[in-house]
Amino acid sequence: MSSLSFTNVTLEYPDGNSTLKALDSVHLSVARGEFLSLVGPSGSGKSSLLAVAATLVQPTSGVVMIDGDDLYALDERRRTALRREKVGIIFQQPNLLPSLTAVEQLLVRGHLRGRPAHEGRRKAEELLDTVGLSGVLNKRPHQLSGGQRQRVNIARALMGSPSVLLVDEPTAALDHERSESIVRLLRRITDEFATATVMVTHDTEFLPLTDSVATMRDGRLSRAAVPSGQPN
Ligand code: ADP
Ligand code: MG
Repeated sequence: MSSLSFTNVTLEYPDGNSTLKALDSVHLSVARGEFLSLVGPSGSGKSSLLAVAATLVQPTSGVVMIDGDDLYALDERRRTALRREKVGIIFQQPNLLPSLTAVEQLLVRGHLRGRPAHEGRRKAEELLDTVGLSGVLNKRPHQLSGGQRQRVNIARALMGSPSVLLVDEPTAALDHERSESIVRLLRRITDEFATATVMVTHDTEFLPLTDSVATMRDGRLSRAAVPSGQPN
């Protein structure tokens, strides 16, 4: 079953006297446990697609579904609840709060509101362990490397047990070695948590670590074959 689907989705922005189609009749279906790479030139609509899937920007027309729910047919309150429970968002800049430790970064969103505090803390510690950070649980952002900060960001996105992970250029600020380990981590998380993962990337060398590739051009999406070869 697909966790995330777009049917004939168009997103228009006003552009002077005319309109700009950031998304133009997009069809997309991403299954549980599928890791999709989204590539394409700058300005082609990749981040717009993620924003629409993240319930952050309402499309002009079309239907977006997550686990069978029609996102933009829900009222605002239910859409926000669905985002919190089912969508993990990982953008290029980790946006961690400077004064908080790694564990605390995962607790502030309040995903486990109403549950005992130690449960949230235990879950946060488990997720930080999953992303390889068990040694730095109580470190603050300035004490972490760029790669470690991005791992905190990834762990934080998993706090709500998402079925969809939306990742925008997660390696843009990292060197090659750290970039590869982040993409490998996202591969492992997609397998272990059975998320439908969409990753915008410019690092074409990592495409073989993903299951499928879609290309955006002027708001139009097409599926491409996954290149084979290194690394795998
Ligand atoms: P990409 O992520 O592929 O670089 P974007 O999705 O950010 O592309 O942008 C797609 C197009 O939509 C671009 O032409 C961009 O200028 C335009 N766009 C994006 N966000 C807005 C906005 N909030 N208002 C107006 N135009 C926008
Ligand atoms: Mg972008």
